[in-house]
Amino acid sequence: MDSIKNLFKIGYGPSSSHTMGPQKAAKIFLEKNLNADKFICDLYGSLALTGKGHLTDYIIKKTLGEERTIVNFLYDKTYDYHPNGLKFYAYKDNKLIDEWLVFSVGGGDLKELNESRKTSTKDIYPHKNMRDILEYCKKENLTLADYVKRFDDVTDYLKEVMNTMFNTIEIGLNTKGTLPGSLKLNRRANDIYLKYLENKSFSKLLYASALATAEENANGGIVVTSPTCGASGVLPAVLYSSKIYHHTDDEVLIKALMVAGLVGNIIKFNGSISGAEVGCQGEIGSACSMAAACQAYIIGGNNYQIEYASEIALEHNLGLTCDPIDGLVQIPCIERNPLASAKAIDAANYAILTDGTHRVSFDEIIKVMMETGIDLSSKYKETSIGGLAKREINK
Ligand code: SF4
Repeated sequence: MDSIKNLFKIGYGPSSSHTMGPQKAAKIFLEKNLNADKFICDLYGSLALTGKGHLTDYIIKKTLGEERTIVNFLYDKTYDYHPNGLKFYAYKDNKLIDEWLVFSVGGGDLKELNESRKTSTKDIYPHKNMRDILEYCKKENLTLADYVKRFDDVTDYLKEVMNTMFNTIEIGLNTKGTLPGSLKLNRRANDIYLKYLENKSFSKLLYASALATAEENANGGIVVTSPTCGASGVLPAVLYSSKIYHHTDDEVLIKALMVAGLVGNIIKFNGSISGAEVGCQGEIGSACSMAAACQAYIIGGNNYQIEYASEIALEHNLGLTCDPIDGLVQIPCIERNPLASAKAIDAANYAILTDGTHRVSFDEIIKVMMETGIDLSSKYKETSIGGLAKREINK
């Protein structure tokens, strides 16, 4: 498994797979073809179907050059390897000089056709699943945070990550107005935050904080993929509310972030964090699982209780569909963030009341999530051709 640094990426929303990944790919292609005078980029599958709402064409043109770039939406073409394919063509004096087929596989990561999804640039961690990690920790008498520290030099980077998360929340908490796009959706974080200031409760702060990031993401603001942009409000809300409401120490929060990152890494390595591949269970479900692990660590859970909290959170998001209205990362995405952060808190509180033993392991539930995702109709995997995306809504 890669470093946690590759899970928590800092960048512009609204989508890690539809904005950050394509932007990264366009930058790589541009650097290889600095002498090109024209670019064409074909978008396939989910990237074509929800690319407009997710600003995929905008970011590609912005990166390669507005004037010299054409983006085509090929709605009927999808590669079995992954639904988020895109192909770049570079021209010089009307002559094709280079082409590149690449896939944006979730969380801002790129892969080439048929490249193993489990390859990583560097295997930082010697173990690949939770069972082996728990066994190792037991033998070595380590917490899960100690485990991350032993193999991944990530403390300073996570400080930057947490600062970015908190900055984004504070911008969102203090911003009113309407989000861009056809839905003309009003921001709600500020209203709920004001209610929190009038009469403080943990849940009001949690909801407001999760909404703050989700709304900033929908607005194209800076977020941290946790593990994706669409689900980027869940984990930061748990950390921020713990700091502000319970005055939890930064040192504890950074360790909790390590544990959350480890959980996200295991899901990413053994399953998927891509809504286009497995539906929203891979995004909000994974974020909820990471946040549950984070909260369980904060409230003093042992390794087994943390594993149980993560498992509960992922299990009870199984089958969650991805059917964003008008292809925007707004409905149902924004509301899912506060709801998932509350579920994460519940999962942790519940797990800590047990001895951590349970029947279905975290590793097994990742396999179930992956199988469920493969079986889900493509209508519910970030294509906006079914479910909520096809209902009449109050505008
Ligand atoms: S429904 Fe979930 S997976 Fe789909 S775009 Fe929204 S947050 Fe991402």
